[in-house]
Amino acid sequence: MTTAVAAPFRFFSLQVLRTRRLGPSLVRVTFGGPDLHAFHSDGRDQSLSLFLPHPGQPEPVVPLELGDGWWQGWRELPDDVRAVMRSYTLRALRRDPDEIDIDFALHGTEPGATVQAGPASRWAARAAAGDRVLLLGPAVADNRAIRFRPPEDTDLVVVWGDETAVPAASAIVEALPAGTRARVWLEVPHAGDIQDLATEADAEITWLVRDERGTAGSPMTLDALRAAHLPPAERPYVWIAGESGCVKELRRHFVRDRGVDRRRVTFVGYWRRGASEEQLRAEA
Ligand SMILES: Cc1cc2nc3c(=O)[nH]c(=O)nc-3n(C[C@H](O)[C@H](O)[C@H](O)COP(=O)(O)OP(=O)(O)OC[C@H]3O[C@@H](n4cnc5c(N)ncnc54)[C@H](O)[C@@H]3O)c2cc1C
Repeated sequence: MTTAVAAPFRFFSLQVLRTRRLGPSLVRVTFGGPDLHAFHSDGRDQSLSLFLPHPGQPEPVVPLELGDGWWQGWRELPDDVRAVMRSYTLRALRRDPDEIDIDFALHGTEPGATVQAGPASRWAARAAAGDRVLLLGPAVADNRAIRFRPPEDTDLVVVWGDETAVPAASAIVEALPAGTRARVWLEVPHAGDIQDLATEADAEITWLVRDERGTAGSPMTLDALRAAHLPPAERPYVWIAGESGCVKELRRHFVRDRGVDRRRVTFVGYWRRGASEEQLRAEA
């Protein structure tokens, strides 16, 4: 007897279908392509690796002809040729027709910005129908790039995310089943970034809006969460994602100050102030 094992991840060649501004800091890019019939995901915080072209390139350069050797071949390409690789989250998957949404937090792209832009933020700010990208994403719905996994006995779900994790947190909250108790904090730069989220869960969602000069992971978040009253729970599950420094502080707060079992805290640094994703990958 043989057992068929499907490869959990593969490349998808996609094109931008349309874009929509969700607020001053967030743009939704909708992608399509014939490959998407093979894209399967259980959603939640499904992470993806996106490969983007440099300005002037018609498509991202990844040596897919090398098969399993693509990674080594990609790393050996010159910096200004090799596609830019960045981590993003699946915000939505639709069928008939096959489409996926990715929400990009823009940073440093507005005139007079005080924070540094990166290639992905710049790409998203200018994205237009027809632009081509490659995606390394799931072909199997339940895969290890989904990290939100509350244990079955969870009696309270706690979520925090900054603007880079708003897409993941939103998909998580929308997927929570009826009857789940959840307390959710979402931090965004501008009041215009606040979105309506539909959920069947008993979820209390608090939007934290930074002032004009504030930066992600500001003390505002820590103060708000330290002061927050959480309903009594014996087996809470905590999910935290966003700027690394803030994620670390919040994890410490939940484990040390609130006594949450560290095994019931999922925490992911989505970016770090002052470091590009290449630099973070090199450190790892
Ligand atoms: C698993 C995972 C899922 C993610 N999902 C999403 C998602 O769905 N949507 C999303 O927008 N991001 C998401 N991110 C974060 C995103 O990958 C980073 O913000 C990434 O650094 C953006 O790439 P870039 O080319 O714009 O900037 P980079 O070239 O990587 O960085 C350039 C500079 O910009 C700074 N920087 C990076 N992001 C920000 C920011 N948001 N605000 C201010 N400064 C910043 C860096 O510190 C650096 O100084 C995710 C990250 C991970 C690990």
